[in-house]
Amino acid sequence: MRRRQNALSLLSLLAVPFLYLFGSAIFAGTTASAAAPSETRRVLILHSFGPRFKPWSAYAETIRSEINRQSRKPVDFVDHALVNARANDLQAESPFVEYLGALYAGHPPDLIIAFGGPAATFVQRHRQRLFPAVPMIVTAVDHRRVQYEKLTDNDAVVPVDNNVPAVFENILQVLPGTRLIAILIGASPIERFWAEELRRELAPLTKRVELKWYNELPFDDILKDAESLPPHSAIFSVLMNVDAAGVVQETGNALSKLVSHANAPIFTYDDAYFDGSIVGGPMFSMQEGSRIAASVATRILDGEKPGDIKTPPLKYAAAKFDWRQMQRWGISESNLPAGSSILFRPPSAWENYRWQIITAGAVVAFQGALIMLLLFEQRRRHLAEMDSRQRMMELAHVNRFSTAGELSASIAHEINQPLGAILANAETAQLILQSPSPDLAELKEIVGDIRRDDRRASEVVRRLRSFVTKAPFQTQKFDLNDLVSESVEFLSAHARSREITMRCELSRTPLPLIGDPIQLQQVVSNLVLNAMDAVRDAPRAQRAVTVRTSRHRRTAEIRVEDTGPGVPPELASKIFEPFFSTKDHGMGMGLSIARTIVKAHDGQIDVENNNGAVFRIRLPLIGKNGGASAVAGSVGQSGADSGK
Ligand code: ADP
Repeated sequence: MRRRQNALSLLSLLAVPFLYLFGSAIFAGTTASAAAPSETRRVLILHSFGPRFKPWSAYAETIRSEINRQSRKPVDFVDHALVNARANDLQAESPFVEYLGALYAGHPPDLIIAFGGPAATFVQRHRQRLFPAVPMIVTAVDHRRVQYEKLTDNDAVVPVDNNVPAVFENILQVLPGTRLIAILIGASPIERFWAEELRRELAPLTKRVELKWYNELPFDDILKDAESLPPHSAIFSVLMNVDAAGVVQETGNALSKLVSHANAPIFTYDDAYFDGSIVGGPMFSMQEGSRIAASVATRILDGEKPGDIKTPPLKYAAAKFDWRQMQRWGISESNLPAGSSILFRPPSAWENYRWQIITAGAVVAFQGALIMLLLFEQRRRHLAEMDSRQRMMELAHVNRFSTAGELSASIAHEINQPLGAILANAETAQLILQSPSPDLAELKEIVGDIRRDDRRASEVVRRLRSFVTKAPFQTQKFDLNDLVSESVEFLSAHARSREITMRCELSRTPLPLIGDPIQLQQVVSNLVLNAMDAVRDAPRAQRAVTVRTSRHRRTAEIRVEDTGPGVPPELASKIFEPFFSTKDHGMGMGLSIARTIVKAHDGQIDVENNNGAVFRIRLPLIGKNGGASAVAGSVGQSGADSGK
């Protein structure tokens, strides 16, 4: 039995190297195809409390990914955490150092990175036993926690410079009414260090603000206290790794609980905590600190001597604030220090809808340009219309002269009659005066007749003058009945000379209009003269021209009817065109001018046949909602333009 056991142990002794060789062969075979193990750099990460304790965990995470990004060779990170940072248990240190030494005896790490004050103190205290030839970086640590005189050539420090009074000044600047600041800090050795340090640094501030220290309370009591802080209080969070009762809290965890309980705004010194529950201010930039530490690590891994790399302590970055917290605590933007940035502000309408706004703006601009173009075109058209109307008015004036010329014989006859009567009466008066006893009563009667005839002649001259006068388009209020009767009166001598019966039937109600009476008189005259031309060849007894006026609601109507052949239906639209005439010596402008004038008065003109031609003009009367005001406007405008 004993021999059998010896044989087995001999076999096992022989088998171990064989298995080892066999196993190594397999292992070498599998890794050779991936990355050569000698190529891989091993970085030992030493945490103060543990890999999940803020703010160091945030730094470690970012440095790890930065080194991975910057390093040309694969890097293997191995994490370890001090066991005695929670309580200053120095007895536990030595076995931990031995443990690390044993772990890496065969294959020491290429770099050690120690995070935070406790880790820094630990590695410095045991540097000679902790792979003295291996480069080391101490980071995420305040320069006050580093023993610079004990650094070896293989040590580099990437420190920070905590300036807590500046954070307190910031609190008092953004919330000037602050009367009390509660300081969240725990009771582990490093926290006790900082509590003492801060008491000393903040002593001058106690004249301006009351400070309340939480380092002697269990965390549950801290939460209760923070629930009912007096108005105008603020909280400054330093660390809460271990509370006064010895319970491990972890600052990140503690802060998220505190946020849901506290009735006051919370400030801190490191943006690793700036995640929505902190107001903000000057803080360390975790990104910046990690970037610097990672670049030092990469340089060392690339062969640079750690002792040659000097890094000045990182200071607080420019103040940054959380917009949501500012709203919550009523912090005005004007209270922020110069150069501050505000984060988490909801995007403005411009940021949210930039393309929509640009598109809408482009559409509006395009529309605006189109409108401008149209307005320009409209103005151009308007000016062209004005110009053409002006020409038409000048033509109308010429037309009136030609009409006056046409009427000259009858006008002369009209004037001659009273002049002849005046002469006869004057001769009779002379004879009476030659008698020895002149009949004064008869003389008086004769003088009266002379005066009446003179007025008659003057009236004919006045009408003629007003008819041929060249006045700009002038609007005024008048009664259409007066205008029509005056025109008929003016033309009646001409009608008599042509043996035409002229009738004038005026509406019983007045027809108040706003317009240019001279222009409208010309329209009526043109129509009446055309009517007289139309009845010229009719038997004498049938030669008749009738002018009527009537009122239809808010419209005045003039009808000029004759007993002529009427207008052939196919010519009904053409006769209003310029230069259309069926007469031997006609200019063809009368109706065209008439239509222009009527349109300028917002009226209409048309023709129909009813035992002869019937020309009908409709004009808007002055009324509440009638078109007269519009007429006044448009004609007034015309007048103004034509007067230029
Ligand atoms: P003109 O009198 O110089 O011919 P108008 O413009 O006044 O110019 O008239 C144009 C044409 O309209 C006339 O030549 C004629 O053919 C027709 N016209 C006008 N008034 C009448 C009417 N009362 N009866 C028939 N035709 C008419």
